[in-house]
Amino acid sequence: MTEIRFKKPFTQQEPIPEEGIRSATNIMRTGRLHRYNLEPKEQSQASLLEREFANWQGVKYCLACASGGYAIQLALRVCGVKPGDKVLANAYTLAPVPGAIHNVGADPIFVEIDENYHIDLNDLETKIQSSKAKFLLLSHMRGHIADMDKITLICSKNDVIIVEDCAHTMGSKWRGIRSGNFGKVAAFSTQTYKHINSGEGGFLTTNDPKLAAKAVVSSGSYMLYNRHGAIPPEEIFRNNRLNSPNYSGRMDQIRATILRSQLPNLENNILRWNLLYEALFQKLSSITGISIPLRKNKESYVGSSIQFKVTNLDNSTIPKFIEACLQRGVDLKWFGDQEPKAFTSRYDSWTYIDDLPKLKKTLSILSQTIDMRIPLTFEENDCSIIAEIIGNELGKYC
Ligand SMILES: *Cc1c(COP(=O)(O)O)cnc(C)c1O
Repeated sequence: MTEIRFKKPFTQQEPIPEEGIRSATNIMRTGRLHRYNLEPKEQSQASLLEREFANWQGVKYCLACASGGYAIQLALRVCGVKPGDKVLANAYTLAPVPGAIHNVGADPIFVEIDENYHIDLNDLETKIQSSKAKFLLLSHMRGHIADMDKITLICSKNDVIIVEDCAHTMGSKWRGIRSGNFGKVAAFSTQTYKHINSGEGGFLTTNDPKLAAKAVVSSGSYMLYNRHGAIPPEEIFRNNRLNSPNYSGRMDQIRATILRSQLPNLENNILRWNLLYEALFQKLSSITGISIPLRKNKESYVGSSIQFKVTNLDNSTIPKFIEACLQRGVDLKWFGDQEPKAFTSRYDSWTYIDDLPKLKKTLSILSQTIDMRIPLTFEENDCSIIAEIIGNELGKYC
C-alpha cells in the first residue's frame, strides 16, 4: 500500500487582491513611491492606511513603518527604554523580539511560560521584584493571549509599562478587546507570513499623543509629519519634533496600497483561519500521544498556526518523526531543537545576550512542542490529510 502524501506547500500565501495589484501598478506608473511625494491635496496611501488600521484596531494613533521588528524597537524607545535598562519578555518568542531589545541597548530579562504557552504570571511577579525592570515586552507568541486582566494588574501595581508584540495576534481579542489595546504601545507586522501581507512592513499603535508624535518623527517624517493619517494635534508635535531622532523606517506607497486592499478581507480571513484551526484541532487532539492545551474562553484567537505537544517521544526521536512527516509533505517545526532552524529558535540560542538564564519549565514545555503553519491556501479536507499523516507517523513510535 502506498502511503498518502500531502502536496501543498506550507508557505504559499494567497494572491494580493486585484484591486491592490491595480493600485500598486498605478503608483509605479507615476513613479511617486515615497509616502511624502504627493500632488497638492493628494492623500498618501500610507496615511489612508494608518487611518483605516487605527479605526479597525480601535486606537487613536497609528504609524505605518518598515517592519514589525522596527515597530517594536521604536515602541520601546518612545516608551523611554534607555541603554542598560532591563526589559522583561516571555522566553517563548522569536528572534526579532530580543533583537529589538538589543537594538535599543537594553537587556532582556526572560520570563518562564506556562503549559498553555502564556507568560508565567508567578515568574513575572518574581522577576519584576528581582530585576526591578520597568518594562514588559509581551509577545503574544503564536497567537496565545495570556490573561490580560491579571497582567495589566500586576504591571500597573509595579509601574511596569507594557509594550505588546502583536505579530501573531492582529485581529485576536481578550474579553472582546483587541490585542494591542492593553499596553502603552503595540507593534504589528505585515511581513509575508503574518495576517496581512506586504512582504515587509509593520504598524505601531498607541493612544498616547506624545508617544505617537515621537514615533512618527522618529520613523523619519522630517517636518512632514502632518502627512500622516492618524496623528495627535500639531502642538504635540511642536513639543517633540526636535527632540526625536530620525531613525528612518517609513512605509512606502506600494506596500501601503497592497495592505489597504487586504484590510477589508481581514475579518473574513480570520473566520477562514479558525475553520482550518478547528478542523486540525479536532483531528490532532484525538491522536494518542498528542495533547493540545485548551484555550481560555475569554480569548478569541486567529488560528494561523497550531501548536501541539508530542507527549510520548523523547528528544532524540522527535527529529526523526519530523523528518518522516516532511518526507510525506507535512512541514512541522520543533521549538525544542538545540539548533535554530528556519524561523524557529529557542531563547537560549541567542548567545549575544549576557547571562542567559536556565528556564527549566520553558525548556521542558518547548522540548515537546511542535509548531505548524496554517496558510489560507489550505482547505478543510487538507487538514484531514495532514492529521492522518501525523497520526500515522506518530503511531510508529507508540
Ligand atoms: C514576525 C515577528 C516579528 C517581527 O516582524 P518583522 O515584520 O518580520 O520584523 C516580531 N515578533 C514576532 C513574534 C514575530 O513572529
